[in-house]
Amino acid sequence: MSQGAAVLEAVKLSAGYGKISVLHDIDLKVAAGEVIALVGPNGAGKTTTLKAIGGYLTPTSGAVRWDGEEITTAPHKRARGGLAFVNESRSVLRGLTTRQNLKLARLTPDACLALFPELTARLETKAGDLSGGEQQMLAVGRALARRPKLLMADELSLGLAPLVTERLLKAVRAAADADGVGVLLVEQHLGNALRYADRVCLIVGGRIEFDGSPQQLSSNRSSVIVSYLEGSAAGLKQLADPSEPAAAQGQDA
Ligand code: ATP
Repeated sequence: MSQGAAVLEAVKLSAGYGKISVLHDIDLKVAAGEVIALVGPNGAGKTTTLKAIGGYLTPTSGAVRWDGEEITTAPHKRARGGLAFVNESRSVLRGLTTRQNLKLARLTPDACLALFPELTARLETKAGDLSGGEQQMLAVGRALARRPKLLMADELSLGLAPLVTERLLKAVRAAADADGVGVLLVEQHLGNALRYADRVCLIVGGRIEFDGSPQQLSSNRSSVIVSYLEGSAAGLKQLADPSEPAAAQGQDA
């Protein structure tokens, strides 16, 4: 459900690592209250897209716009402006307790616990001793408790049990619906993307090859989409039945 003008816009964005160019003329928009899933094969440039938007990589050309204005600021300034980033490493300080992790982010536990009450009993536990799912709840809860305008999350579901993934995705969807948070989600499981996103963007070889609703993706049989679906684990099955939560490999509750 789109609720308005773009909070974030990547316009013809190109970026890479030294002489290696990875992203080629990426166009991407996220509006307030909208959940966008960025999907694509391994090495397609999903994480690189988030890094370029977050300010961790300088674009070689094109622009990142925030509320309509081009931004070139450092990552911490983008964070202060309301851009939250939860990456694959879950970004929690493992030697500090849950409470201390929240305090370091200048948060009292309340807002995070309102989203994930299951962390109440884990407030005095070191983040490194939490399960993978609890660590991810802490990372997502901390990010959302700061009331960002945009949440970028890289593979929330990595290694987590399907029920935990559902829990996290529901919280993210609720933040978009209730608080108008824009969400850009890198999601490896197509079924999750189809169930929770308003729009799905498929990136292949550093180029956006498809940008449309889950329904449009389901009915699109272009060769690039078919070859992605055939190559992605259980992609065609998930397209046929997105209600079926994807099983995680090497899962961790
Ligand atoms: P995955 O699903 O496997 O995480 P991805 O779509 O997120 O993949 P990226 O991590 O953005 O892909 O990587 C895109 C390309 O950039 C890959 O070819 C990768 O090898 C390369 N790459 C990523 N990080 C670096 C780096 N720090 N230095 C050089 N090349 C890199």
